[in-house]
Amino acid sequence: MHAFDYQRPSALSDAAAALASDPEAKLLAGGQTLLPTLKQRLAQPTALVDLSRIPGLVGITAIPEGVSIGAMTRHAQVASSSVVRAVLPALADLAGEIGDAAVRNRGTIGGSLANDDPTADYPSAVLALNATVVTDRREIPAGAYFRGLFETALAEGEIITRVDFPKVERAGYAKFRNPASRYAMAGVFVAKTAAEVRVAVTGASQSGVFLWEEAGDVLTSDFSPAAVESLALDPSDLMSDLHGSAEYRAQLVKVMCKRAVAKALG
Ligand SMILES: Cc1cc2nc3c(=O)[nH]c(=O)nc-3n(C[C@H](O)[C@H](O)[C@H](O)COP(=O)(O)OP(=O)(O)OC[C@H]3O[C@@H](n4cnc5c(N)ncnc54)[C@H](O)[C@@H]3O)c2cc1C
Repeated sequence: MHAFDYQRPSALSDAAAALASDPEAKLLAGGQTLLPTLKQRLAQPTALVDLSRIPGLVGITAIPEGVSIGAMTRHAQVASSSVVRAVLPALADLAGEIGDAAVRNRGTIGGSLANDDPTADYPSAVLALNATVVTDRREIPAGAYFRGLFETALAEGEIITRVDFPKVERAGYAKFRNPASRYAMAGVFVAKTAAEVRVAVTGASQSGVFLWEEAGDVLTSDFSPAAVESLALDPSDLMSDLHGSAEYRAQLVKVMCKRAVAKALG
């Protein structure tokens, strides 16, 4: 690990100022992705700006539209939250399936979304639910947030402060996990509102999370696992690696989609 300064500001404005004054500084949330990267010397920030002492970044609040989750809220807190269980149980289920207990007790929703790993779980919920990523500068709708492999709409030095999730009629998440890393090889989040069904897929594409629009259309007219049966996801944009071919992932996505719908139907 290279040497770096460590700062633990107690105000969001101080964290923003620290990033603005040093373009090589990086935010530290749960450290589950960042610290291994530093240990492997894949990143060499001059300073780490720890968000853990900034008030207001941790917490889960019921809001009229749904539920608001602070950026520094740990996965384990989302998984065990009675508020999330009441408003969006599928989101609590998703958080409970992330990594292992150690990862869930340190990793944060803000860190996960800022990192935007193509196999991470939260991006599928954010996209399917059409959630809003709120930063210290603006509100970013899910559709504009994800930009591809490890790429988001976040500008240099922009800090996620919370994520607002709207309520939906029904939602479900199903994931086929990589047995070694526990990241998704295919994770499908299905969200049904009165107007439409949105199906977001993580883990399968090298371009990151995406909406499977064909499945959304079919499920909008018939919200049942059987409705997905006749669909075939085009494997040409999917990942092929030692864990599975693109064709295998396309099949996994379909199976996970059916399971997610079944879970949403309870
Ligand atoms: C063994 C293992 C298994 C895992 N399995 C899974 C899995 O199954 N599913 C899954 O989804 N994830 C998995 N993860 C990742 C985990 O969910 C982490 O929570 C996530 O990668 C990063 O969150 P963090 O809070 O640790 O962020 P950090 O590692 O602290 O930061 C990650 C990046 O985000 C930036 N950042 C952090 N917070 C903010 C913010 N508020 N605003 C702007 N930028 C910010 C940091 O500067 C850094 O670049 C796994 C990790 C490990 C180590």
